[in-house]
Amino acid sequence: MTKVSDRLNRLSESATLAMARMSRDLKDQGKDVIALSLGEPDFDTPDFVKEAAKKAVDDNYSHYTPVPGILDLRKSIAKKFKRDNGLDFTAEQIVVSTGAKQSIANVCLSLLNPGDEVILPAPYWVSYADIVCLAEGITVEVSSSVEDDFKVTAAEIENKITEKTKLLMFSSPCNPSGSVYTKSELLEIAKMLEKYPNIYIIADEIYEHINFTNQHFSIGTIPELKDRVITVNGVSKGFAMTGWRVGFIGAPIWIAKACSKIQGQVTSATCAVAQKATETAVNADPNEVSFMKDIFLKRRNLVLEKLNEIEGIKCNVPQGAFYLFPDVSYYLGKTDGESIINSSDDLCMYLLNSCYVALVAGTPFGNPECVRISYAASEEDLLEAISRIKNQLSKLK
Ligand code: PMP
Ligand code: GLU
Repeated sequence: MTKVSDRLNRLSESATLAMARMSRDLKDQGKDVIALSLGEPDFDTPDFVKEAAKKAVDDNYSHYTPVPGILDLRKSIAKKFKRDNGLDFTAEQIVVSTGAKQSIANVCLSLLNPGDEVILPAPYWVSYADIVCLAEGITVEVSSSVEDDFKVTAAEIENKITEKTKLLMFSSPCNPSGSVYTKSELLEIAKMLEKYPNIYIIADEIYEHINFTNQHFSIGTIPELKDRVITVNGVSKGFAMTGWRVGFIGAPIWIAKACSKIQGQVTSATCAVAQKATETAVNADPNEVSFMKDIFLKRRNLVLEKLNEIEGIKCNVPQGAFYLFPDVSYYLGKTDGESIINSSDDLCMYLLNSCYVALVAGTPFGNPECVRISYAASEEDLLEAISRIKNQLSKLK
């Protein structure tokens, strides 16, 4: 009999990390796995950031830092928010955490009481739902489809608002759909939210620098919402720094203080050396890393073209991040002669075990008809993976 808490029993293993684990296991068994499951840039951290970290080691950044982060880093993040996003924050409003994942967990734990509802436009990033669950909130999904470019409207969100709604949480550019909300779409959502002053908004902008429209808009700049928006960002994606574990928020001061209080009891701040490296990253001109975005765009076009050649697959044209989220409903209910593919989860397991391509099912992202493909991989691997997928899908009847 399991002795873990009820809280843990309610939680799922992160689907992205689970798929990464399964593909690693197969690789260890000598299988030629192409893993397009984990969302992390395949680039190395830029040299100028690495140099800053080496200097931080030599300068003895080996002690605990202030819980919300080193003051100079928080000042630099405040400047970055102004420079890139037009957001006004003081250093007191910034909290640096062990990845944007922890930033989001801090905010949810700070704001949610048991039973509070959190609206998640679907598809949403897998961890949102489980973090809300951990904070004893209730997720309320607003569905969308490939035909709507996986975006939801202000009216669709409003339909889900109840007296219990406490938070709206979304990412733009979106993981997993790659969709980018335009300024006018966000203004419409903001206008609707003006009627509901008790709802807070988590705007997850971690893919800000991987935006092919080059028009990123931060909902937190809208004056009427300024006191209710928590802007989440970090260096994992834009600067290829997933392993450094640094994310941050800009938030109303009382929320920043609450997040700091939680973090002070859980991690005592993130790694000092990683914070110094992040300071250099956020101080840099974003053009220093735009070459990665250009490469991602080239790969998006390549994968999209190849996927569109596969019978029954429907894709949107993602405007950011490094994912495609094709609708595979055409294949659900088909069989390989042995078992029936009932869900996108079954389809992912079929592809993993039969042709060693690791994707992630759409189900934990709130859209069971789709699968997520991360194209943060070499062109060679991408072409080989799509060819294997095409061949394997053609065997389903
Ligand atoms: N938000 C989104 C939408 C993500 O895809 C991720 C995945 N890395 C995160 C937050 C968390 O990023 P990290 O913890 O690496 O900063
Ligand atoms: N966020 C990435 C993804 O969606 C990394 C994995 C994770 O943090 O869950 O794949």
